Amino acid sequence: MSTAPTPPATPASDLATRVRAAIRDVPDFPKPGILFKDITTVLQDGPLYAEVCRWFADLAKRSGATHLAGIESRGFLFAAPAAAALGLPLALVRKPGKLPYRTRKCSYSLEYGTDCIEMHEDSFPADARVLLADDLLATGGTMSAACSLVRDLGAEVVQVAFVVDLSFLNGRARLPAGVPVEALVRY
Ligand code: AMP
Repeated sequence: MSTAPTPPATPASDLATRVRAAIRDVPDFPKPGILFKDITTVLQDGPLYAEVCRWFADLAKRSGATHLAGIESRGFLFAAPAAAALGLPLALVRKPGKLPYRTRKCSYSLEYGTDCIEMHEDSFPADARVLLADDLLATGGTMSAACSLVRDLGAEVVQVAFVVDLSFLNGRARLPAGVPVEALVRY
């Protein structure tokens, strides 16, 4: 009896390998001791960038998202093309003072001090199912605050998605329980 053939690598794992190879490590940026994962080198490879945006769009489709939201600023690079490809609405999670209309805010703690993000209060209708996108999960503070903000606006977070998860920082533990989390590349 013949054994089953080894399945080919899934497109997602193949994509992950290529994205991992494309990401540039920049030591000591923005301050000593931080190894910055620079995704501009992914953007420089047009076909690869397009595939990463399709990966976000596929996730949004599979999760039944009705809306996408991107976190300033590198989250915009992936949320916006994915939303446009699906013809779905896009909402922006921004730093304070950038949005012109009435906003809702959420503060969160950093290693030293606090930070704040904002969304327009009319970003979603009440029954919105939202995919939240950012380039990278580190401690999880930013995405956790974004989830709180989306929920505060009455919408449901059905998926959070990242290009990179620095899993040694255990950012997933800070995210709300029960929300599906996907990342293309984990370190
Ligand atoms: P955090 O709130 O700690 O999960 O940080 C996530 C945010 O900070 C994301 O928007 C990232 O763009 C940025 N970030 C944090 N650490 C890094 C890193 N090592 N390389 C690149 N971006 C980072």
